[in-house]
Amino acid sequence: MLGLMSIRNSIQDLAVEITGYRHLMHENPQTAFEEEFASALVQEKLSGWGIPFEAGIAKTGIVATIEGQTNHSGRVVGLRADMDALDILEDPSGKPHASKTPGKMHGCGHDGHTAMLLGAAKYLSENRNFDGKVRLIFQPAEEGAGGAMKMIEEGLFERFPCDQIFAMHNWPRLKKGVIATRPGPIMAAADRFDIVIEGKGGHAASPHDCVDPIVIGAQIVNALQTVVSRVADPIEPAVVSITNFNAGTGAFNVIDEKAVLTGTLRSFTPEARAKLSESIIQITEGTAKTLGGRAECIFESGAYDPTINDPVMAEFCASVAREVVGEDKVDINIKPSAGAEDFGAMLQQVPGCYVIMGQAEDDTTSPHNRGLHTPRYDFNDSIIPQGIEFWVRLIERALPAKA
Ligand SMILES: [Zn+2]
Ligand SMILES: [Zn+2]
Repeated sequence: MLGLMSIRNSIQDLAVEITGYRHLMHENPQTAFEEEFASALVQEKLSGWGIPFEAGIAKTGIVATIEGQTNHSGRVVGLRADMDALDILEDPSGKPHASKTPGKMHGCGHDGHTAMLLGAAKYLSENRNFDGKVRLIFQPAEEGAGGAMKMIEEGLFERFPCDQIFAMHNWPRLKKGVIATRPGPIMAAADRFDIVIEGKGGHAASPHDCVDPIVIGAQIVNALQTVVSRVADPIEPAVVSITNFNAGTGAFNVIDEKAVLTGTLRSFTPEARAKLSESIIQITEGTAKTLGGRAECIFESGAYDPTINDPVMAEFCASVAREVVGEDKVDINIKPSAGAEDFGAMLQQVPGCYVIMGQAEDDTTSPHNRGLHTPRYDFNDSIIPQGIEFWVRLIERALPAKA
């Protein structure tokens, strides 16, 4: 069996190659279900390393399988990386590998996630120091379009059953070298809702002949503030934000007949999600009715589930992380984020854990410290060896080699 240092040395040797792939993907960003460049690169590398895979799952998605030296356990562990970029115009300062496509950018570091999983694939296929199978899941469309759900719909876990599943995300708000997770909910369910308010239009000088949808909308926005303060469990986080308020004809002297609001609900358990969305619908419809109008609130289907870590798997990931970065660099109780992650859909099917990996530098002006989804952000290549090592050690611990 290879000791910790020799794993580390061979991963260091890999890091230059893998960083090159990360830069190639960064230069060629593509969004939801169009990640042909990343998908082709992954397929080319897997083929070159003799790793069997199936492509074309949810368009650009790929599932590869690496067999261990033995398979007495019959166990299968899945590792997932996302491949998609964002519709952002990148600020290229200090990035020789900046996007070549204006308006598209790897602004969430999925280029880094895919590269690190490729690194783990190469290492694991060369060493096979485990008993069982590893599935590498390269998914499209994490950013809002539900690539994970699409892969599941296309039979991901029927065709490629997994006993456990894991994913990681870089985190600019955490120092480089820190690995964090938590048992239970770590990322929110992200629901979108649209409210259409119908009033009665007319002359602005005759409000008594109208039902003003703007006044109704304003009341609804205020009333919805009570969902979090009065309906949600005070020790469970939740967010209700109205993000768009569209109303008015453009004329100063016309009361329009309609107003449209859009908002988002973030919640962390299926129970809270059901209760709060019901409350939003009730308040919206009730408020409009009270003021003589009508409102309909529709929650968009296919929204992201909360990402809920299995407590045992979270503790397991923390113990692997302690081997990689040391006891004091592991946070097992990081605060949940109100952002959403479609890996939550996979965790609804298979127990596992989502881990975040710090990437902030001491220099606070570094692009690695910029927030996810911002134009100057860049994935931090210096965490690539740590990410690969985390995957390798996780597999060697989850599927211990049999003599
Ligand atoms: Zn993102
Ligand atoms: Zn992301």
